[in-house]
Amino acid sequence: ATESNGTNSRYQYDAGVTDCLFCRIVAGEIPATVVTETDTTLAFRDIDPKAPTHVLVIPKEHHQAVGDLDPALAGQVLATAHQVAKSEGIDSSGYRLVFNTGRDGGQTVFHVHCHVLGGRALTWPPG
Ligand code: IMP
Repeated sequence: ATESNGTNSRYQYDAGVTDCLFCRIVAGEIPATVVTETDTTLAFRDIDPKAPTHVLVIPKEHHQAVGDLDPALAGQVLATAHQVAKSEGIDSSGYRLVFNTGRDGGQTVFHVHCHVLGGRALTWPPG
């Protein structure tokens, strides 16, 4: 994908495809603890977990934010997230899926990712 780069980004801090941390994880250039993968998605453990289970699910293709995903790919990300919840054993106790989006959403990595959080009772509302 080449639609995203630093010059046409909606987001000031988007590094674009060429220098994207999560694209580098997909490429195997940066190590990650992979939980599962499909043809189009990758799930790996968050480096700074906020809950006993904290896995990030990304499309392998670079897109900045959830609104940039076509519905089929968004569905594949969600299906992988649910698969992770099942394999982590938190599907029945409950879990949370989060897409932090943009500045006010607290997004810090501009390759769309779904946080899968669980393994403890999560509080609401978020900060
Ligand atoms: P955001 O704040 O919603 O954009 O989430 C980015 C997430 O990526 C944070 O929870 C970080 O802890 C996580 N993260 C940053 N760098 C790495 C890495 O190299 N491997 C795994 N997770 C990372």
